[in-house]
Amino acid sequence: MEQWDVIVVGAGSAGCALAGRLALSGRNRILVLEAGPRDLNPWLHVPIGYGKTFYNPQLNWMYRTEKQTHLASREIYQPRGKVVGGSSAINAMVYMRGQPGDFDGWERMGNPGWGWREVLAT
Ligand SMILES: Cc1cc2nc3c(=O)[nH]c(=O)nc-3n(C[C@H](O)[C@H](O)[C@H](O)COP(=O)(O)OP(=O)(O)OC[C@H]3O[C@@H](n4cnc5c(N)ncnc54)[C@H](O)[C@@H]3O)c2cc1C
Repeated sequence: MEQWDVIVVGAGSAGCALAGRLALSGRNRILVLEAGPRDLNPWLHVPIGYGKTFYNPQLNWMYRTEKQTHLASREIYQPRGKVVGGSSAINAMVYMRGQPGDFDGWERMGNPGWGWREVLAT
């Protein structure tokens, strides 16, 4: 029977980053479990593919919220990735660089290690 030091459930943004960091040390045997398939669908790899995976139940959990009192009792559609890469595989590929002042502010509020220099280094 195979043995693992760490089992990561979900190969989404956080799961992949965590497993990758743990693997870097070379000391751990890591198992990553993902409910969805591999990211072989070509629409996962182009920005416009976001529209094609939005309602694809093979790649998307397609959650709905409870009825929302403050939204006229509507249920709101909540897409989430069900595939290696998780929601980052079905997202819109929009990204931006953070503002150094924001990170330094969070550090000043009592969060050592969250300053711009430390976060940028990792
Ligand atoms: C449609 C859409 C568009 C978005 N657009 C952008 C964007 O343009 N820019 C941006 O920065 N962010 C965007 N986001 C947000 C961003 O993609 C997510 O915030 C981020 O990917 C969440 O990471 P996570 O690790 O928390 O979860 P996920 O990446 O969703 O990972 C969770 C993983 O766990 C798996 N899983 C769940 N339950 C189980 C189980 N029981 N067993 C095994 N595996 C399981 C899931 O299948 C999934 O792969 C978007 C999100 C969506 C849904």
